[in-house]
Parts: sequence; C-alpha cells; structure tokens
Amino acid sequence: MPVSDYLVTIGLEVHCQIKTATKMFCSCKAGFGYEPNTNVCPTCLGMPGALPVLNKFAIERTVLTGLMLGCSMPPVSKWDRKNYFYADMPKNYQTSQLDLPLCIGGEVPLYSWAYPADSKVKAEGAVVRTVKLDHIHLEEDAAKLTHYGSYSLVDYNRGGTPLMEIVSAPDLTSPDETYAYLKSLQQILICGGISDADMEKGQMRCDVNVSLRPKGQKELGAKIEMKNINSMSAARRALIYEIARQADELDRGIAQVQSTRRWDDDLGESIVMRTKENAHDYRYHTCPDLIPVHTAEYVEKMQKEMPELPDARQQRLMSTYGLPVADANTLVADAQLCAYFETAAAATKAPRKVANWLINIFPSVLAEKECVIEDCPVPPAALAGLVDVVEEGICSVSQAREVLEVLWTNPGQTAAAAAASLGYKKADSGALEALVEKVIAENPDLVGRVKDGNMKLINALTGQVMKNSNPKPNPKLVTEILMAKLGL
Ligand code: ZN
Ligand code: MN
Repeated sequence: MPVSDYLVTIGLEVHCQIKTATKMFCSCKAGFGYEPNTNVCPTCLGMPGALPVLNKFAIERTVLTGLMLGCSMPPVSKWDRKNYFYADMPKNYQTSQLDLPLCIGGEVPLYSWAYPADSKVKAEGAVVRTVKLDHIHLEEDAAKLTHYGSYSLVDYNRGGTPLMEIVSAPDLTSPDETYAYLKSLQQILICGGISDADMEKGQMRCDVNVSLRPKGQKELGAKIEMKNINSMSAARRALIYEIARQADELDRGIAQVQSTRRWDDDLGESIVMRTKENAHDYRYHTCPDLIPVHTAEYVEKMQKEMPELPDARQQRLMSTYGLPVADANTLVADAQLCAYFETAAAATKAPRKVANWLINIFPSVLAEKECVIEDCPVPPAALAGLVDVVEEGICSVSQAREVLEVLWTNPGQTAAAAAASLGYKKADSGALEALVEKVIAENPDLVGRVKDGNMKLINALTGQVMKNSNPKPNPKLVTEILMAKLGL
C-alpha cells in the first residue's frame, strides 16, 4: 500500500554543546582548536580517585533552556552513571541523568519560517504547531575518535565537556516537521546564548527515531533509530529514505525489529548497526560522587535572564521597524543577519531600506566575495549611512552599490565620504535646474515627443543631464525635475 496509508511517528534526541569556558566536572578548558590531548586532567581522564566538581554555569544554561521551552524542573535532580566500554570514555561510564533530569516536559514551537523552502507549509508569521518534549538532561561529551585505515586516534579535549540532551516525545509526523523542529530549536538555543548550535561543527547533533504502523493500529511500530546525521537537510533526507524503506518492507510482510542504523548521506541510505538496545543494557546507577542538584535557586536566577524568543523578536521587528512579515521572517531565521540589521536599523531613519539591502542585495554581494555576514568588513553603521545617502538623493541605489565597493575596501570610511570620493554629492538644486532647462531648450524634438505621450524618451533627456553633470546627481531626482519643468 502507498506510504500515505501508514502513520509515521518520529522522535528526536538532540545533543547540544553548551557555550561554557570549562568542562562539566573539572576546570579544564572547553572549546575547539587546541592541540589534541592538551586540555585534560586526572578527572576528565578518569584516573582512579579523581573527584568531579559540578559546572554551575552549564546547569544554569540547561535550566534556562527548560524555562524557554516551558519545561518544569523537579525540585531535586540527580546524576547517574551510564556504563559502557569504549576508547572515547576512559572512566568506562558517562556521567548523565536517567530518572531525575533537570527539566521535564515542555515543548518546541515550530515556526512557519523554519520549514524547508520547498515545503508545502506556507502559514506566515505564526507558530504552526508545538512538539512535546519528554525531558532535557545534562551529561558529559565523550572524547573525539578519528578512524584511519588500520588504527584510530583519540583526542580527550572534548571528553567531559558539557552536553545538553533534548529528548522529544514521539510527537513528530513528517520529515518536513523534523526539519522545522531542528531549525526552530537551533534559533531558540542561539537566542538564549546557550549554544552556537552549528550542526556542521558538531555543536548540535541529532539522532532520529522513526516507526511506521498501518492506519487504525493503536500501538506504535518497531522503533528504528538513525545516528550520524549532521545537518537538517540530512535529517530530512534520512527520514524520507527510511520511511519509504520501512513501508516497502512492511508491504512485503517483513516485520521491523527495534534497531539502530547509520545514515550514510553520501550513499543516500541507512545501514543497520545493531539491534535492540535498552536502558538496562547500560546498568545505570546513581553516581555516588556527585550530590543531587536543588533546582529552585537556579530557576529563580534564570527566570530573571529569560531572553526574547524568536517569535517575540519577529513581532518586535515588525512593530518597531515597520518590516513586512516576510522580511521579519528572513531576519529572525538568521541570528547573525538579524543582529547586523538591528545595529544598522538603529542608526538610520529608513530601517525598511536596511532590511531590503540585507535581504535582497547583500546575499549576492557576499556570495561574490565569498564572505559571510559575520565577517563582512562593512560595519552596520556604514550600511545605515549608505541607506541615508540614497534617501537624501545623493546617489541612486545602483550608484550606491559602487559606494558599497569603496566601503568594502575602506571600512573605516563613512558612506557620505565614500560617495563623495566617487563624485556623488548632493546636487546644488539651482545649478541642476539650470542644466535641466538647458537640456530642454536644446532638444525640442525629444521634448515634443515626450509631451505627446512617449514617456520612455524621458530617460534620454535624463541621460543628457547626467552626462553633463559633475558631481553626478541622483537620476531619479533629475527625472522628477524634468517632469515638473515639462508640466507632466
Ligand atoms: Zn579535566
Ligand atoms: Mn546522550
């Protein structure tokens, strides 16, 4: 039967690196780019007798995430050991949380702008639906293994860094929703300053589980988990593939077995890794080295630090700067672009024009220069100045693109100075009007045809004025003066 005759149930486990200076249970530095195995100590290397000390900041950030997502916090949260043997974990257990995590319940709003561009969901400026969460817990990351042909290398710098795990209920129903869930969650984590949540850098990683059952059947089908998914579009692709694969096997009478598969994005297929794995396989038990966390003080502190959520930000962009909903959506979907916009918008009287530059002109400029907005040499204040230069009639939008080029190589310059260096100055209106009159007098033919209704020819007159002007006036302004003089 067709895939649409099956009910699809999807759940996600998202691991997220918290932006902290130090590791979860010791004072070693967290973060990238250090020589392998230099940020290590007896605690994070699992030496006998070394004792853990809690990272309060990581607990605060996790509680803040919970507050942003409407979770409740149990009064006491505790730590558990998840036992397993592998080279990425020298202690042979991961310190994690099993039955009393920091946050319980809550939900992730799916923003309309978070859906993939080719998705059918088109509801604008709204939360399409919310996805229930099971819980959020805090744990430590494992070391990073790099596999070569016949050997592997291990870097313990990442071992013991704080990792927040956000576990959804089996409440998602499609690959598009899953994409929107990841995108919405990512923006919330960035808004809260909790994580940079860059999936390519592994700061946000997700495992997806999916089961199918025929319509009308109550109990869920066998859960298949897919690991090794490293982008939102890969999660979507993996699900589309896996749903079709399971439907095909079910059609042919092949029962599904609870199992873990590895998604290979290059091959575009999932490969079975192992079957059935349950919590009891890990022999979880309470960690005797760590005292439980009393959450009340953290909740009280973090309630005062609640940041603006993306949907509130979108509303504010619309009301404060008069942005249309589509522009507000685009900016909210890109935190860096949004920050740039807000700084620039505060420095001009025409914030909508700033949004227009950032949304419609900048993408091609950045692509051409192989640059991203974070590294854009033109400061927001200079873009604000550029918008003002156009608004004041000093140059046209297309001329302003030349001014942008000057600013790109001279980021310290003001837009007005850069415009002046190209000969664009505010026209002396007296001199300009005299020139317009001269051009009218010298072209009786053209003027006659324009007056007869051939409005296209007015561009020829504008061109004559432009050619004879120095500095160059704004062509729109010249046309306006021409029309007024001709009584049109
Ligand atoms: Zn350490
Ligand atoms: Mn985990």
